Amino acid sequence: MDLFQYKNGILHCEDIAVDSLPERGLPTPFYLYSANTLRLHYKKIYSAFEKLDPTLCFSVKSCNNVHLLNELAALGAGMDIVSGGELFVVKQSNADLSKVVFAGVGKSDEEIKEAITSEVGYINIESEQELARVQELAGELKREVNVLIRILPDILDEKTNEKTRTGYKGAKFGIDYANVETLIEENADHPYVKIRGLHCHIGSPISSYTFYEECIHKMVELTKALKQKNIILKVLNIGGGFPANYMDNDNFSWESFAGPIISLLEPYVKNEGFKIILEPGRSISANTAILVTKVLYVKQSGEKHIAILDGGMTELIRPAMYNAFHFIWPVKPEPQHILTNRNYPVEQDGLTNYDVVGPICESSDYFAKERPLPTLRQGDYVAVFTTGAYGMVMSSNYNLHVRPAEIMVDKDKVYIIRERETQDDLVRKMIRHEL
Ligand SMILES: *Cc1c(COP(=O)(O)O)cnc(C)c1O
Repeated sequence: MDLFQYKNGILHCEDIAVDSLPERGLPTPFYLYSANTLRLHYKKIYSAFEKLDPTLCFSVKSCNNVHLLNELAALGAGMDIVSGGELFVVKQSNADLSKVVFAGVGKSDEEIKEAITSEVGYINIESEQELARVQELAGELKREVNVLIRILPDILDEKTNEKTRTGYKGAKFGIDYANVETLIEENADHPYVKIRGLHCHIGSPISSYTFYEECIHKMVELTKALKQKNIILKVLNIGGGFPANYMDNDNFSWESFAGPIISLLEPYVKNEGFKIILEPGRSISANTAILVTKVLYVKQSGEKHIAILDGGMTELIRPAMYNAFHFIWPVKPEPQHILTNRNYPVEQDGLTNYDVVGPICESSDYFAKERPLPTLRQGDYVAVFTTGAYGMVMSSNYNLHVRPAEIMVDKDKVYIIRERETQDDLVRKMIRHEL
């Protein structure tokens, strides 16, 4: 559900008509965020899980603009980070560093030291060697650090795209479930590195809560086995990967998604003082933005209608990379094609099948193939929906395109929150000097 709706025949972001922005001189393509959609999603997910009194650590890799992070931090969100760069951005934000969790299979010494001295909440440990390295570095710094052990639970949701699966046996993430008990036993008494609990992130987006149930069972079993040995773990981080509305703008029922997870975990929270961490990314940020692009040309190739936009895989790589679906519709369609409800497939007469493509010299630069759309004309503005997650953050300078601006609307106010790159930026680091 989001606040991108057609009013008076024109797509609006909250109170702002989308076509008014390029008319005011903003060059397309640009990302357009709705601040109140961001807040709404955070609050919906938080309320759904409220009985667990969880810490929601927003996955910064899904959407990393510091101004958007500030909006979430103001609501109490923690942050889930996966690099020193993300830690750097989070430190510029208003987020509480004690609510930061740091995952990632390949943390460098510099990243680990920075996390320790910044006093992040938890480092998520992804290998035996990483744990040893964190112990060495914390020892050198003489600083305590809390860690969670990321388990590789051997869980596979077949509906998840192959490129975003993380929990299956043999994946590069986490530590084999079978080895975790011994590892924790052997490292329970370190003077600086305190193992506080377990982490698990099984992929994105996960199609059913049942996979979380399976994973939580495994984590709880492990804490029970360790309790027998007087090792007390109280933090369970069940990761992210919750779904987002890509196909429609319906109200997803967070209550029915969260219900079974709550039933499982509530007794441990209430009776044993367990602390629950969630790491949602796309479920908060995806519906928060659209990519606004312009039709440069339309042409026919054989029987095919092709619409060439000024934005492509350099702005949004998800269709090329994951074969991802994004809803596409003109900002100002003809009256008979105005949408009251965004639902794919659209039940309307008079649509034409288009291949919607970008300007990049690369045959995977498609947003959609054979997509039924109203007639597209040169100069029309087109919205690519649900692009707030893994959109801007994965943009690139391929073909030496400048990266787009990010704009945020809050009711009737419009803010530029990241300026469009300039062509000078493209060559700024191309400096020749002898080593
Ligand atoms: C990517 C990632 C997430 C967020 O995934 P979403 O699908 O955006 O919710 C959470 N935790 C970890 C460790 C991740 O790598």
